[in-house]
Amino acid sequence: MNDTTSLFSLEESLAEQSQAYLSSGDFTPETREAFTRLLDGYGRLLRETKQLIRLSDRKENELNRLNHKLRQLTHSLSYQAEHDGMTGCLNKAAMTARIERHIADGDVCLALLDIDHFKQINDVHGHPAGDAVLRGISALLHEHTGDEEWVGRMGGEEFAVLMPQRSLLQGRAAIDSMRREVEAARFECAGKTVSVTLSAGVAVSMPGECFDTLYQRVDTALYEAKNNGRNCVVAHG
Ligand code: GH3
Ligand code: MG
Ligand code: MG
Repeated sequence: MNDTTSLFSLEESLAEQSQAYLSSGDFTPETREAFTRLLDGYGRLLRETKQLIRLSDRKENELNRLNHKLRQLTHSLSYQAEHDGMTGCLNKAAMTARIERHIADGDVCLALLDIDHFKQINDVHGHPAGDAVLRGISALLHEHTGDEEWVGRMGGEEFAVLMPQRSLLQGRAAIDSMRREVEAARFECAGKTVSVTLSAGVAVSMPGECFDTLYQRVDTALYEAKNNGRNCVVAHG
């Protein structure tokens, strides 16, 4: 017995009883013909109603399946719109928006980290090895950031770390520990082992400071780190 049969069990039993009554009763030919036509019509209506319900059930299932797919697609599109496809970091636009939002809420600690002599990695080991290093560094940075901290890829081999809760001292220490992790790491790609270092600048926003000037100060600190011989962190006080 399927669902539509059980749904109409009362009507079906009524039709069966009427059919039995028609077969057993003594009726005039006119009455019998009218009764037969009525029962046929009733049976046809019942069959068509069941078909309609089955069709509507199928359409509802189809609609649910499409809704589910649409939700998955929307989720994946909004993820792609905010993330860098290669490293999984927030992309520059999403990271910038996040930094701006946090600056509006209060002071933030921001760092820029740039891989040292990265061009040489590509030149010596090849572009795929360079990509593997970028992915490996992104994974390391994510491992060392807290729940309410974010990593963004701001350009080719330049990452930003947003640490809203940290002071300059704490932020500097956190970034220096990431720098040491990167220095100690060995990145594998197609049988090659690659090691790299990075330089970083850190600053904490001042009350009322906008994104551009904070970013400029962090960039200046990064520039100093490069000039100091690389593989170090400079804090802009
Ligand atoms: P510095 O220590 O001064 O930062 O030197 P650098 O070589 O790291 O900096 P430079 O700006 O000269 O070179 C950056 C290189 O990063 C050049 C570019 O080919 C490479 N790069 C940018 N994006 C990607 C990428 O997605 N994958 C790979 N493999 N390389 C990239
Ligand atoms: Mg570099
Ligand atoms: Mg760079």
